[in-house]
Amino acid sequence: MKVKVLKFGGTSVGSTEAIKRSASIISDWSKKYKVIAILSAMSGETDRLIKLTKIFSKSPNSMDYDNAISTGENVSCSLMSIYLNSIKIKSRSLLSWQIPIRTSIEHTKARILSINQDKIFKELQDYDVLLIPGFQGINSKNEITTLGRGGSDTSAVAVAAAIDAECIIYTDVDGVYTTDPNLVKNAKKIPQISYEEMLELASQGAKVLQTRSVELAMRKKTKLSVRSSMRPKISGTIVTEENSKLENNTVSGIAYSKDEAKITLSRVLDKPGVSSKIFGPLAKGNINVDMILQNVSQDGKFANLSFTLPRGDLEKALKILKKEKINIGYKRINSSNTISKISVVGVGMRSHAGVAQTLFDTLGKNKINIQVITTSEIKISILIDEKFTDIAVQKLHQAYKLYK
Ligand code: ADP
Ligand code: ASP
Ligand code: MG
Repeated sequence: MKVKVLKFGGTSVGSTEAIKRSASIISDWSKKYKVIAILSAMSGETDRLIKLTKIFSKSPNSMDYDNAISTGENVSCSLMSIYLNSIKIKSRSLLSWQIPIRTSIEHTKARILSINQDKIFKELQDYDVLLIPGFQGINSKNEITTLGRGGSDTSAVAVAAAIDAECIIYTDVDGVYTTDPNLVKNAKKIPQISYEEMLELASQGAKVLQTRSVELAMRKKTKLSVRSSMRPKISGTIVTEENSKLENNTVSGIAYSKDEAKITLSRVLDKPGVSSKIFGPLAKGNINVDMILQNVSQDGKFANLSFTLPRGDLEKALKILKKEKINIGYKRINSSNTISKISVVGVGMRSHAGVAQTLFDTLGKNKINIQVITTSEIKISILIDEKFTDIAVQKLHQAYKLYK
């Protein structure tokens, strides 16, 4: 049985016209393949559902929250199936609990653990197209879970990996670009990108693919590509293993994230074990810390420690750290949620010097102050004031000559 896994994002199912347009892509593929289409909620729907859950409580319990916010995807799948059947394509929607798609126990950020491929193959014997809602799963307590914002990409790759099929992500841009094409008009499409670079771009904010979807594709060697649902004939971007052709690019792309916050703890005792007292409770609270910066005072006794985290977790993190104040032993705690992170990514950085210098030069010339810097083998990330994000991305894109 030849199967293709297609994923359609929010705008690709956001209206009756969009559903019909995406249905015609499904219909084309279904002439030669059995098709599994993973759908997102109609654009704006998940935000609307999240707002609804906050009407009666600022912090609704996470089980009810996931039950509510996972429903947008169910509606898209039902509507798509109703339409496909109306044009004589034999299809059905199949919710995650009906397969099941098993996830880890935690709500709102669950991870996919297993997918029952037997059920999928069995249904594919009776139907030409299966519509599976992205973003959701079911945990070992039989509770509905969600996978974090943008999680339908991960659902799609996970289903493709489980049945060893190719995964095509249909979205509102026709591929992965050197930076967000909605921010930089002359950004250039990247026809092929390595899993590793895509992983860095995604994890640094290029939301065209959810980070975990790339991680999973890389681990399972799933064939993955990004295409436009509006212009499906145009070739998109193939995400693949690194090869010599790709290695020539010193810098492949620039990502930015405005979803950042920073916490600074002042006058923390500089002694062994203190970091674990800070980051242990945060990890327990399921908060992912990203950049960490420590300055030790001149007498070597105290340190100021700053770190970044997702903006949505700021309140929770402050609450945890204030509760742990005596145990950690810091003097003051400050926070900021008006910062953003910009990252320059490229496998060629391994063998080319001067990438950092171009970054510092460009920001210096534009009078943009860098608050924190971190580097990895193929990435440099900096933290700046949020209000300079757009201009910094545009100037860096130009400085690295990424334009078309
Ligand atoms: P979907 O709803 O289909 O999942 P998303 O909004 O999650 O779509 O992702 C697509 C968006 O990602 C694009 O509209 C674009 O603004 C943004 N984006 C950010 N960085 C990039 C990049 N480097 N290449 C392409 N798109 C990017
Ligand atoms: N609907 C979910 C969201 O808006 C999941 C997704 O679209 O990937 O985050
Ligand atoms: Mg998305």
